[in-house]
Amino acid sequence: MRERVRARIEELHPQIVERRRDLHRHPELGFEERRTAGIVAEWLGALGLEVRAGVAGTGVVGRLRGLATSSGARRTIALRADMDALPVQDKKRGPLASEVAGKMHACGHDAHTAMLLGAASVLAELRDELPGDVVFLFQPAEEGPGGAEPMIAAGALDGVDMILGQHCQPSLPVGEIGVSRGAALAATDAFELTIHGVGGHGAYPHLATDAIVVAAQVVMALQTIVARNLDPLASAVVTIGTIHGGYNFNVIADVVELRGTVRTLDPHLRDAMPARIEAIAAGVCAAHGARHELEYHRKYPPTINHEVGVALVRRVAGEVLGAANVRELPPSMGGEDFAYYLQEVPGCFYWLGARHPHPEQEGYALHSPHFDIDEEALKVGVQLLVEGALEHLLKGAGPNAAA
Ligand SMILES: [Zn+2]
Ligand SMILES: [Zn+2]
Repeated sequence: MRERVRARIEELHPQIVERRRDLHRHPELGFEERRTAGIVAEWLGALGLEVRAGVAGTGVVGRLRGLATSSGARRTIALRADMDALPVQDKKRGPLASEVAGKMHACGHDAHTAMLLGAASVLAELRDELPGDVVFLFQPAEEGPGGAEPMIAAGALDGVDMILGQHCQPSLPVGEIGVSRGAALAATDAFELTIHGVGGHGAYPHLATDAIVVAAQVVMALQTIVARNLDPLASAVVTIGTIHGGYNFNVIADVVELRGTVRTLDPHLRDAMPARIEAIAAGVCAAHGARHELEYHRKYPPTINHEVGVALVRRVAGEVLGAANVRELPPSMGGEDFAYYLQEVPGCFYWLGARHPHPEQEGYALHSPHFDIDEEALKVGVQLLVEGALEHLLKGAGPNAAA
């Protein structure tokens, strides 16, 4: 079967490349993926899949029904792609460049979508040999505000007992993948902290409460959470991304607004962070007679791979790519809303090597305005999705195993 799959992917490769390039030239932001969703729904429909469009707005779910089993129990694996682009101006030149000003597929979601379409084509041709179902999830708005959660609420995971998701990784060459055991990506929480002092004349500080001086101390004190409160072997990031306050060089500011992000891998540590930030802000403000307001937003949870999902990916990738090309990676402090699927069903999120072959393109990271991939990666990605689905359906641990 593996050789048949590989040969079919070779044949399909030009179509998958063409589809990826077309999507790359026509990027759409989160929850605006109407053109992309239309292409996806049409492709899946032509393959004879059951297609639900308009899921959570612009999401598309395709279901490939395999054979019924004598016991009636059937395995169902979901494969997920995200479809949205970023508000980035494409700085590449040439025919591949984005045709939409200020929008770009700088995170490879065009490739994810094209690869999942390719996998659907290959698996649809094998439907008479599949002892179970494959669900193809094309979700909107991974870059925010998040399409996975509303897709799940709309029933995207109904009956699913395993899920896989892959993401292009420009730091790995084509032919390698990266997998993390346990936590793969961080929670992406955010906060707004407003410091209120008392404004006044720049020459008379004794008559004012300088919100800028207090804010500066709060920024420094927040750094002690990671440096002094955390177990050095635990991981977290507290970043203040913006600081706004003040009116003029000779005016003492009455208010300063700080905005930041908090990244954690451990759910308990995640839960403890708002209270630490609150305590530090309250303490520093109290010391200076200022007051504060903290608004804390819990965004994507940490993406935590399941052992059974990691084992599936490692087994399949080891056979397809060779064990030496399956890298074990530490977690990244970036985030992914794939996390929500993994809260519901076992599965694995892994990195697909896609480093660009040209030296001048190499080294551009995800979200870079020059981002591009080696399109040979599309073949590998399609193959891993197909083989992952086959492995689970033909040899997997069965419904609800190790959930
Ligand atoms: Zn991204
Ligand atoms: Zn992404």
